[in-house]
Amino acid sequence: MEHPAKATNRETREHNERLVLATVYDSGPVSRADVARLTGLTRTTVSDVVEGLLASSLCEEIGHGPSTGGKAPILVEIPSEARLLVGVDLGDQVFTAAIVNLRGAILQRVDAPSESTNGEGALRLAIDVMERALSLAGAPVLGVGIGAPGLVDASAGTVIQAVTRDWRMLPLGPIVADHFGLPVYVANDCQAAVLAEHVFGATRGPNLITVKAGQGIGAGLVINGETFPGDGYGAGEIGHTIVDPGGRMCRCARRGCLETVASMPAILVELSDRLGHPISQEEALRQFRLGEPDAHEVVLEAGRQLGAALGGLVGALHVRRFVLAGTMAAFGEPWLEAVAAAAADRALGALAADTTFELGRIDDVVVLGASALLMTRELGLSLHPFGSPRPPRTPVAVAVAGAAAASTPGLAARLGAAP
Ligand SMILES: [Zn+2]
Repeated sequence: MEHPAKATNRETREHNERLVLATVYDSGPVSRADVARLTGLTRTTVSDVVEGLLASSLCEEIGHGPSTGGKAPILVEIPSEARLLVGVDLGDQVFTAAIVNLRGAILQRVDAPSESTNGEGALRLAIDVMERALSLAGAPVLGVGIGAPGLVDASAGTVIQAVTRDWRMLPLGPIVADHFGLPVYVANDCQAAVLAEHVFGATRGPNLITVKAGQGIGAGLVINGETFPGDGYGAGEIGHTIVDPGGRMCRCARRGCLETVASMPAILVELSDRLGHPISQEEALRQFRLGEPDAHEVVLEAGRQLGAALGGLVGALHVRRFVLAGTMAAFGEPWLEAVAAAAADRALGALAADTTFELGRIDDVVVLGASALLMTRELGLSLHPFGSPRPPRTPVAVAVAGAAAASTPGLAARLGAAP
């Protein structure tokens, strides 16, 4: 067993490395002296850490900054492709695995239709798209982040239950980590989506709720700069709250869930009923944009139903910013306004006036959120309220292959060993 004092030294070193790394990521190009000022660490400590980061090529010197009297300082930064991320969206219709850089740009992507696969076959397809994406990576890969459907225990990387895939207690994270020999993190797709907005989005505040409305409906929460899974893993699971007792049958085998009135399948069923023939998502969008009355009515009613459900969240949490994502967001501003108006109707006036609803501007929100999950957990990067670095918590690495995580000498050394 490791000596306690030695363990403490290692923790301190790793903590300092993460703090310096996060500061250079957020503020770079930046001088060592400024990093010391921003972190409160001594200049000697910062220089030591930066040496380690340079040696592992995670950091780069990029020339001199302006002199403030003495010698012009050397600036360091984190190149956006110092490490690559594999971001995965195990979506209801398509599985996507993408190679993503450290600033959230998608460099390569592999898509595979996934609608008709479940169980073992779905797992094999998921590993196959990841394999194909990994073969396209042109630089060292940090690991894999996965946004999975259903209930996910992110701390263990286990899919507790995903009805659409017929997965129960599937140790997805450990299976993928074993297969590729890389660190793997898994989160519910909505919790991944909120991370995409929080980490790579245009504005960053301490609290944020992202609502994903598409095949299903769910919310992801960031509270005080951290994702909030709830006491277990179910925070934000609003899709199967019953809003219309006795309403349509839901895929969860009950009647009248929010998903049966406000999701994409719900509006397609309603529109098909009205028109007397099946209608596709593309056709529904086209009719909505053309102003066809049935399409308008059905879509806006779906928006109102979603908004009414979100009104409860406004009062419960008083989070000022809601971002709406998922295929329903393709109905744009009119749908958004229906959501916002219904939420405002249901919430306390003063709170409603203090809350904004906006359409997500990030495409591939689950792929990027899964990448953000990997990046923030593995490097401790950029998950700070108000954009200011603070000591990151010790990460819970999900199934780091080789089980070497607990005995590695430090972050820089571990990164140095990257392929
Ligand atoms: Zn349901």
